[in-house]
Amino acid sequence: MSHPGVCRMCAGSVREFFDFGRQPLSDAFREPDDPRAEFFYRLAVGRCETCTMVQLLEEVPRERMFHQDYPYLSSGSTVMRAHFEGVAERFLSTELTGPDPFIVEVGCNDGVMLESIAKAGVRHLGVEPSGGTADLAAAKGVQVRKVFFEEATALDILRDHGRADVIYMANTFCHIPYVESVFRGVSALLTDGGVFVFEDPYLGDIVERVSFDQIYDEHFYYFTALSVRRMAHRFGFELVDVEPLPTHGGEIRYTLTRAGARTPSPAVDRLLERERETGLAEPETLLRLAAGVERIRDELTGLLRGLREQGKRVVGYGATAKSATVTNYCGIGPDLVEFVCDTSPTKQGRLTPGAHLPVRPPEAFAAPYPDYALLFAWNHADEIMAKERAFREAGGKWILYVPEVRVL
Ligand SMILES: [Zn+2]
Repeated sequence: MSHPGVCRMCAGSVREFFDFGRQPLSDAFREPDDPRAEFFYRLAVGRCETCTMVQLLEEVPRERMFHQDYPYLSSGSTVMRAHFEGVAERFLSTELTGPDPFIVEVGCNDGVMLESIAKAGVRHLGVEPSGGTADLAAAKGVQVRKVFFEEATALDILRDHGRADVIYMANTFCHIPYVESVFRGVSALLTDGGVFVFEDPYLGDIVERVSFDQIYDEHFYYFTALSVRRMAHRFGFELVDVEPLPTHGGEIRYTLTRAGARTPSPAVDRLLERERETGLAEPETLLRLAAGVERIRDELTGLLRGLREQGKRVVGYGATAKSATVTNYCGIGPDLVEFVCDTSPTKQGRLTPGAHLPVRPPEAFAAPYPDYALLFAWNHADEIMAKERAFREAGGKWILYVPEVRVL
């Protein structure tokens, strides 16, 4: 466990800029009759005064978050499936073209990306500590190990398979506080000319969209190009490319190589320059973000209470991990939102963490339609609104809350 206020990256001092209070685990969906006490921790976020890395002040033990029943499936969304097929195609045509190439994906979830690699007959290995999702990957023909990735894991893989041309993580690296062990592992496992590629939510998008619901237990770090470059240097690597992605409400794909192995793309300097110009990760910017979060909470709870007084029915859409921050921080319980519908069978019939909103299958949404739907899965807004066109045609209205509270 880390000591609050000490940077997990560089041991500098972390200054807190927002405290969401007591929060449950974002993916701990409960059976309605579960008698066990719910686990809570303090969700607070701060910035390292030395290396600028934005991070949580309290670390949740990894086994509490990633285990046999971890409910999130990467292939649950059409858009995400297409995204990961594109990632696989790109690796196959760029980095995996030598003789007998090898790719390792850390946090491979249900094998959504590696399935395409396996079909292409390329050597691969998924590392996935969440047992249930790892089983789904294996069922698709993906080679997978049910372990956490750290230095010892990398050395085991190296012994059994040799070095990897690509080490890839999607929505995984920011989950891992112990980066030093990861980098030692990557350093041992990666070929001299290989790439370490990871994509994670970008602090720039969180600030711009006031998407405070990106802040929850699993997201330990909130990267910027600057903090990632400093992290890379610390461990003998270089940031050679950055690529903005629309996934998960705004992410960056970072490409690292061993220092000196490749010339950085001009995109790196451009993004660093923009971060300097906008003062991203400067204390004033983060305090502005904090004020925005409080404003959204006040407006959203005001709107929901008003609708309750008018006798309107409000239903949530998408029992996302990030909705835990919204419902618990804003105090949105079943008195304000009747239930949440979600496509994941692993969540249906359960209660959302902390706020205890019942989770129902998508069919419940139209039976009958509510007056308002609070869109927790706002990062899939286009996909969902297209699918649920009949809701608005029936007079229903969507409520969104980032970057501001609005009714559509
Ligand atoms: Zn630091």
